Amino acid sequence: MSQNLSDIPIQFVKGVGPAKAKLLAELGILTAEDLLYFFPYRYEDRREFTPIAKLQVGQWQTLMGTVLVGGEAKSWFSRKMRVEIAIGDDTGRIFCVWFNQPYLGKLFKIGQKVVLYGKVELFKNRLQVVSPDFEFVTDDEEGSLSMGRIVPIYPLTRGVGQRYLRKIIDTALNLYAADLKDIIPFDIRRRCKLDDIAKSIRNIHFPQTLEEQQKANARVAFEEFFLFQVCIILRRMSIIEKEGIAHKIAPSLMKQYAQNFPFKLTHGQQAAIDDIAADMTKSRPMLRLLQGDVGCGKTVVAFFGCIAAVANGTQAAIMAPTEILANQHYESLKKLVETLSFGGDKGIRIALLTSRMSKKQKDALYQKLKSHEIDIIIGTHALLEQTVDFAHLSFVVIDEQHKFGVNQRALLSAKGTNPDVLIMTATPIPRTLCLTLYGDLDVSTIAELPPGRGKISTYHFPMEKAQATLERVRQWVSKGTQAYIIYPLVEESEKLDLKAATESFDHFVSHEFKGLRLALVHGQMDRAEVEEIMQKFKRHELDILVATTILEVGIDVGNANVMVIEHAERFGLSQLHQLRGRIGRSEKDAVCLLLSDPGTEEGKARLDAIVKTTDGFKIAEYDLEIRGPGHYFGRHQHGLNELRVANPITQMDLLQKARLEAGNLIQADSHLNNPEHAPIKGVIKKRYPQYLDMLLAG
Ligand code: ADP
Ligand code: MG
Repeated sequence: MSQNLSDIPIQFVKGVGPAKAKLLAELGILTAEDLLYFFPYRYEDRREFTPIAKLQVGQWQTLMGTVLVGGEAKSWFSRKMRVEIAIGDDTGRIFCVWFNQPYLGKLFKIGQKVVLYGKVELFKNRLQVVSPDFEFVTDDEEGSLSMGRIVPIYPLTRGVGQRYLRKIIDTALNLYAADLKDIIPFDIRRRCKLDDIAKSIRNIHFPQTLEEQQKANARVAFEEFFLFQVCIILRRMSIIEKEGIAHKIAPSLMKQYAQNFPFKLTHGQQAAIDDIAADMTKSRPMLRLLQGDVGCGKTVVAFFGCIAAVANGTQAAIMAPTEILANQHYESLKKLVETLSFGGDKGIRIALLTSRMSKKQKDALYQKLKSHEIDIIIGTHALLEQTVDFAHLSFVVIDEQHKFGVNQRALLSAKGTNPDVLIMTATPIPRTLCLTLYGDLDVSTIAELPPGRGKISTYHFPMEKAQATLERVRQWVSKGTQAYIIYPLVEESEKLDLKAATESFDHFVSHEFKGLRLALVHGQMDRAEVEEIMQKFKRHELDILVATTILEVGIDVGNANVMVIEHAERFGLSQLHQLRGRIGRSEKDAVCLLLSDPGTEEGKARLDAIVKTTDGFKIAEYDLEIRGPGHYFGRHQHGLNELRVANPITQMDLLQKARLEAGNLIQADSHLNNPEHAPIKGVIKKRYPQYLDMLLAG
């Protein structure tokens, strides 16, 4: 009888047990099914090894050899512990180097056989590989799971090694592969020439040939793309197949609007406004993404939609991720509506809602929203509260959308009757990824910055130049500009990083920047406190802001034209670009100084890229190429994590095929009621619970 693999706890899979089950849980493996779906992130071809003399410099390669000289940890340049061993075969020798892992020294014994994987370099005329992956091997392993074949390499956690994973996965394949259910309907499998799932899962772990591996990968990738596209198409349908409001937009309104600014709208801005106007006049709800680099002027575009809604006698709402951004929008909108000559005698009534307001203030606001004494409201997450209720909300803007989840977006929209929704993002999204993630949205892109902006020059210096760099900053600040100094703060080493930032700050106050006004903001601080410091900085009551990356999103301080980023190698490229977008927001030129010792060639190439280009789209594509889509938006975003094998960049064709099939399927069976589609429903429930409502609704 066929068993349901997601009902078999991992603990009861042969070779696991309670202790290992706990460790496997850290890798997200809870059931037998999870184990079979735990895929290698790369493979090593250990059928035949390249002789050391034939290794190619600059390439990532697998090699095998015997330890000739064992390792002993030595300190190097006083700071780093360095372990070096020599490996040899009949043809030559190669050195392996590790930094700051002194315990490795004791691991390697002369005469031991070891398989290594890493990038081969020529350093001081000898072959070397820095921080290779390694695995010890014995002589009698030919034909085992780890030698003499294409070997899977899995992500690990402490206490769970490659060999252990290979063993339990192999066992599980033998026991359970036959019970794997094919989620993809037979017709689609046939049309797209997909192998059956049991064979594919086996071959994705233990392929006999590289062709087998590729075929298996394509099969699993198709499934991932397909499921995700089903979700996205469902989401789009759940929104656009409803009756919204068909706004009336007179050409004179657009003309009058454009004339209200001291500047001329860019082509991109005008085109985006045209897109929005066209959508708003239709009765099907708008669902549009407005993307454009930091500073390209998205706000002006979004305000147009709000004004158009008000001209139709309805209300608009703008949701921003932070108080300071909400405030910023509020201030600019206030200026704008004062100059606008429509809205009747009452003018256009706008308001700001944040969680910091007192209950009394909030209650008064709620009342006015409900009775339509407010036309446009700008706020933070506070807008999502249940008590917020509109008289007639017809236009919604979500700013910096990656800071909000799909559900929050839906929550705000639900406060109107199928309002038009504009989503804005300053993280440029390459086209392929856009289709994957936002296949449900129409897209407007602003590709150019307004003219007359100062130039941002970016330079890279090694850390040893830190003092000189800070001295320059001091000189600039003394002449009246303001500066940001940014420290990385990543989750894994949060405490250490915070300590580094705090210590530097204290040192700055008493040494480098003595006599200047500075403040520190970081993620552990109370939000209100951060906001207050930011406002002070904006009013030029501070000269220098030392900050961790919480600065990233949209703050606009025209007088801040210097930025120093410490340990720049630890940021993603798009993140660096976002940070850099905080300066150069006026007509003055700006300087961004990256302090970093990148250590690897790749790290250097990344910094070169950010020094050379200011085009956010180019940077995003480059970032995506080198780091892969999973890292692109940070963790837990967008269901991208569910694309474990599929790569929207390299497998565009497959993605498009899957998208087409998903579309046809939903068209034929929009609620997946056909019994053959029940497994799809089941998987959506498990992997994409946030989309399930849309499946059940309607
Ligand atoms: P972002 O796209 O990053 O949200 P903003 O909308 O905050 O950019 O605009 C950044 C700055 O550029 C604002 O001060 C805004 O007034 C100004 N701006 C917007 N459009 C133009 C334009 N067409 N010409 C000149 N300045 C503009
Ligand atoms: Mg913005």
